[in-house]
Amino acid sequence: MRVVWLWAALAGLLAALTGPPGAGGPLSLAHAVIREHPEIWSGAEVVQGERSLVIGRPGGAQGGAGAPAGPGLAGLSGLAGLSDLARRADRAALTVARVAGPVRPLILVPATTDQAARLAAPATVSGLAAVAGTDRVIIEPRSFARLTDAGRDVVLAHELTHVATGAAADGHTPKWLIEGFADYVGYLGAGIPVPTAAAELAAEVRAGSPPAALPGPSSFAAGSARLAQAYEEAWLACRYVAGRFGERALVTLYRESMRSDPRTALGRALGMTTEEFTAAWREYVRSELS
Ligand SMILES: [Zn+2]
Repeated sequence: MRVVWLWAALAGLLAALTGPPGAGGPLSLAHAVIREHPEIWSGAEVVQGERSLVIGRPGGAQGGAGAPAGPGLAGLSGLAGLSDLARRADRAALTVARVAGPVRPLILVPATTDQAARLAAPATVSGLAAVAGTDRVIIEPRSFARLTDAGRDVVLAHELTHVATGAAADGHTPKWLIEGFADYVGYLGAGIPVPTAAAELAAEVRAGSPPAALPGPSSFAAGSARLAQAYEEAWLACRYVAGRFGERALVTLYRESMRSDPRTALGRALGMTTEEFTAAWREYVRSELS
């Protein structure tokens, strides 16, 4: 862990982020990120972890204008908060690398929700604690600060999985597989019981309304009535694959789905039709959540 420094002046920050000649990687990317939105990063701090680079505002993560500064919002601001985030991102990157491939996280921690929205555009941060771009993770400070320690680790591993798989530029893979795979990696080792992590879906199953079909793309749209359930359904679909066929089969399914239609991918990776897979997933959801 290396604290790069606190720069009062943006020029100093940019100068200090200049790496060796011709160097790519997180430092030169950070340089570009700051140049894109200098008004957001004036006076920013940069913390370099073993694998991660975190850029944040010293007084950041207070949740935006008018947000109450409750005890849960204090954990992100200042060097201690950013260093904690770098440590978590380093750990998450190790887990992600083992399953989904190498990733060198660049984590952006703007001071307000509005700034997070500007950094994430055209993607939305509404209802999310963080959002992944092609090469970076943008923290929505207000939502992220409300998470527990375990929740922060899950979210970071989830978003870093998206970065490792190129999800932001993937217009082909089914949304349930993109989100389910990221949650599969996110929850690895979290020690959170399935009915707790999938509480909303568990309530529906116990009430006699188990899901009928895998969630479609619209189920994951911001403001969707069953947004939480869609993520839980997707997570359990991937957890089912890893549990029955092994983790490599889940990775194979993901890779096949990036280049084939869903039916072909399921057939090649698991030897199942879409109907067989849906039926087996529904039974798995019932048995895990009843
Ligand atoms: Zn996601």
